[in-house]
Amino acid sequence: MPRGKGLLSTAASLIPEHYDLEQLKEAAAGCRACPLWERGTQTVFGEGLPTARLILVGEQPGDAEDRQGRPFVGPAGRVLDRALGMAEIERSDAYVTNVVKHFKWESQGKRRLHTKPNAREIGACLPWLDAEIDLIRPQVLVALGSTAAQTLFGPKLLVTRDRGHPLASSRAPVALATIHPSAILRVETDEQRRQAMELFVADLRVAAAALRKA
Ligand code: SF4
Repeated sequence: MPRGKGLLSTAASLIPEHYDLEQLKEAAAGCRACPLWERGTQTVFGEGLPTARLILVGEQPGDAEDRQGRPFVGPAGRVLDRALGMAEIERSDAYVTNVVKHFKWESQGKRRLHTKPNAREIGACLPWLDAEIDLIRPQVLVALGSTAAQTLFGPKLLVTRDRGHPLASSRAPVALATIHPSAILRVETDEQRRQAMELFVADLRVAAAALRKA
């Protein structure tokens, strides 16, 4: 089915035969492989250098990302940047992206509230992520949050139980899961936030150690 005339079952047929990151991003900008293109302002593609050795994969863009067209530029992105710094990971060594590339939301008054993407939407969008990984060939892959972790490591993965431990993956020599940085913003007290950040940074230090060995 030609692009723009209706929904495709996945984005696979939209991946160019030969591509670099820019060409991939351009192709994704016109994606209508699932209904989310109508909801979001724009496709929010991954960002970072093709030479990045670490790929960080979240669930989907949020409100700020949807408006700006860039991943991890909102409040959760600021938490991520701070945690990367604390784990001594160079931002230029990290490519950031999401499993789903359009913002799924529902309105609550004037606010646009994040809604979890479903299996159909995730499956439709996954070819974009796999194409990014194929180009970058990261040494280390970190899934941020349950949606990304279960998409990349299977539905039995539990972030609370499996976080911070190397996991088997065909997508990178070292792969692990941790929480999504937005979870740190949702905890109630300063002390809980401090503890959650400490654990998040500890998980990222596992990635940092793997990068030093690579
Ligand atoms: S969410 Fe992914 S598959 Fe769905 S329209 Fe957007 S880019 Fe395409």
